[in-house]
Amino acid sequence: MIELDIYSPVEEIINPLFIKKGIQVFVKRDDMIHPFISGNKWRKLKYLLGDAAYLNKDHLVTFGGAYSNHLLATACAGAKFGFKTTGFVRGEEVKNETLTLCRLFGMQLIFIDRESYRNKNRLFELHFQDNSKAYFIDEGGAGPLAVMGCSELINELPEVYDDIFCAAGTGTTASGIIKGLMDRSLPTKTHVIPVLKGAEFLRAEIETFSGGNSFEFHSGYHFGGYAKTDEELLNFIKDFCGTSGILIEPVYTGKMFYSLFDLITKDHFKPGSKILAIHTGGLSGISGMINRFNF
Ligand SMILES: *Cc1c(COP(=O)(O)O)cnc(C)c1O
Repeated sequence: MIELDIYSPVEEIINPLFIKKGIQVFVKRDDMIHPFISGNKWRKLKYLLGDAAYLNKDHLVTFGGAYSNHLLATACAGAKFGFKTTGFVRGEEVKNETLTLCRLFGMQLIFIDRESYRNKNRLFELHFQDNSKAYFIDEGGAGPLAVMGCSELINELPEVYDDIFCAAGTGTTASGIIKGLMDRSLPTKTHVIPVLKGAEFLRAEIETFSGGNSFEFHSGYHFGGYAKTDEELLNFIKDFCGTSGILIEPVYTGKMFYSLFDLITKDHFKPGSKILAIHTGGLSGISGMINRFNF
């Protein structure tokens, strides 16, 4: 049985800005779900692993960059639920904490040049055509089963919020949240914060799951692109951590919370609004980024 007994409480953040604007902000602590199968990565993997088990597969094959939280989550979940795991890693061979953890959890890593990496189905065929027990999981776990897993987050909420904030890489988590709200006919508006530059294509992809439900797509908070940061973002993160006791990181949740504070400052929300931010985790790699923080 592929089950994890998950712990993800909702807690309120108290901040002078929110009090001044008459707004309440809450955080869904998906970062507490598991140290390595963290946050949205467990939600995305849950039904994929169930599907793999149902199909009698014993080997998970997936894809990611050298700092991929998804690779690490798959390695750890594979170890826990009895699957072998292989990760195709984009780019030349490197060593870092995320990849070392992947190896500790038994994942075989295959480094692939950026050109060949593009065609994932072909890589899977090339390496696993003789292995009928291998199971393909797309980069970031993206796909309908992952969207279904993410939509379950909505069932766990203790009350109805006016707005929900979520960082987006592939947009799968955001799609799941929008779908979950729609399934339960909730009036909550979703705010999607892409962390990549030029992510306009994501808007259309998310729309295919939104069934006409409106969401806001805030594309101005990528800070130069995926995993790019600047002084302002890093200072914001320091301030946030130091006043909330909640750790966030620069790649996803830092940008998401920055956008939330910025939009509240700019009076984007009516006084009395209740806003929920999803802490999607991603903290397992943060010690590898520690030298970015210049203090
Ligand atoms: C992977 C990841 C995301 C992106 O999720 P998508 O479903 O790909 O949009 C967001 N936050 C964190 C911390 C992540 O690790």
